[in-house]
Amino acid sequence: MLLLDADRLIDGAADFALVRGQLRIDGDRIVAVAPSGSADGGDGGASGDRRGGARPGDVRISLPGCTLLPGLIDFHTHAGIDTRHAGLSAQAHAPQPIATGDAVGRLQDDLRSGVTTARLCGDIGGLDLRLRAEIDAGRVVGPRLFVAGRAMRSPRGGGGAIASVLTDDPDDIAHAVRANLADGADLIKLFVSDGVGDPSRDPTACYYGEAHVAAATRHAHEAGRAVAAHLLGGPGVAEAIRGGLDVIEHGWFLSDADLDLAARHGTLITLTLGVLCGPDTRAFGGIPAEDARLLELGERACDTARKVIARGMRYVVGTDAVHGHLADEVRWLVALGETPVRAIQAATARPAQALGMAQRLGTLEPGKTADVIAVEGDPLADISTLRRIRLVVRAGRIVHGRAA
Ligand SMILES: [Zn+2]
Repeated sequence: MLLLDADRLIDGAADFALVRGQLRIDGDRIVAVAPSGSADGGDGGASGDRRGGARPGDVRISLPGCTLLPGLIDFHTHAGIDTRHAGLSAQAHAPQPIATGDAVGRLQDDLRSGVTTARLCGDIGGLDLRLRAEIDAGRVVGPRLFVAGRAMRSPRGGGGAIASVLTDDPDDIAHAVRANLADGADLIKLFVSDGVGDPSRDPTACYYGEAHVAAATRHAHEAGRAVAAHLLGGPGVAEAIRGGLDVIEHGWFLSDADLDLAARHGTLITLTLGVLCGPDTRAFGGIPAEDARLLELGERACDTARKVIARGMRYVVGTDAVHGHLADEVRWLVALGETPVRAIQAATARPAQALGMAQRLGTLEPGKTADVIAVEGDPLADISTLRRIRLVVRAGRIVHGRAA
């Protein structure tokens, strides 16, 4: 049994923190969550232990000054690229041994930053499926992965160096979806709109319409899988939602009408602000942080995110391959008006639910998988403490950190 004792515990379900929380972990499961020092250690006395819950052979880790939280879930990233560095296409198309080594390093940066689960939104050459298999088999230490495999876009445009099926034909899309599902994809990813990397292109120009999205959702939904689209805004939003789209990725320039439509259909939005707006993390091939066009686009993206938050819409957060910086995404949410608890839930309970994993992941509750992080300080008082990772436990195993 592993016992973690900290000053506070945020279980991700309630809207408050337990003072002096203790977590008991047996194997890969959480068996009890309780205030520390309760006579029975929080398991109702079933163990018959009356000395604070510890038994011979238990490992107890004291984390004074720390807060325990559920492991974080990065809902939109890519193992094959790091968007802080130039040459995304070259990164994505690196020879396999190099691409694999780099990807493992990036995922381990994520893990050390508290990300115990990552949703990978498109790869080149089946990289993410291979990584998932290696991690699941225990040969590589990394976050638990949910992967899209080969993403699809139009040959005419569509943001993203990381799409590997280029087609305008809905039948080809249906074929690629079936192939991805046969390979074990957990979700399907389309690029519907353009990106912001090329100043000569309109980021809200859309290349896929209702028929393209419907071709994907028909097969994906039959298999119980969601369809996500890189979609910054524009006419493709209404078309994609009519085609059955489940997740709008980025959504930086969604109009009020788009937000109304997404709310009516319960379409999930993945906010990824840091990759566009973050002072340290601005990406897109080394475009300078002071680039006036990107600054203006960043302002617009923040305005949209403010509305998503103020309206109480369904949303989660992702880094879009700014590896190791999911905590910054959570910090953005608070800066834009979200409460700290709901901001934390956007990177824990809500993505777990969106992945269909609410029974196992996303909160610290008995019976759930023991994905736990300890941070120095109190994130409810200062959300930036989420960056101060002391300990990361993934499925009951300490994968990063120190006891004191
Ligand atoms: Zn992406």
